[in-house]
Amino acid sequence: MVAIENLKVRNMIKNHCLAKSISDVAWYRFREWLQYFGIVYGVPVIAVNPSYTSQNCSTCGQIVVKTLSTRTHTCPHCGYIADRDENAALNILKLSLKELANTVGRTVFQVSGEIPLCNA
Ligand SMILES: [Zn+2]
Repeated sequence: MVAIENLKVRNMIKNHCLAKSISDVAWYRFREWLQYFGIVYGVPVIAVNPSYTSQNCSTCGQIVVKTLSTRTHTCPHCGYIADRDENAALNILKLSLKELANTVGRTVFQVSGEIPLCNA
């Protein structure tokens, strides 16, 4: 399984601070290829709602508000400390596993978003 955030690339490009970085890495194209190869190799590519993946604590689930420049997740509720992206990745993985579990028994599924997703 590949777990990603269902980022709205078009909306993110509107943020002039992020636009160049996002365009440089051809984010949208990367996602198209990821989903294409997911279908070819029979690997589910799960895109989850990106809301709060950076803000939620992956250990206790509490919201820990931080700005984009805050790179370390430090949870005042449970004491968990991790790199911001590592904490978000764990949240994305948990959401993806939940989504995958909901698709068991279905041969084709689609997660709402910009791009239709693959066969499970
Ligand atoms: Zn916590």
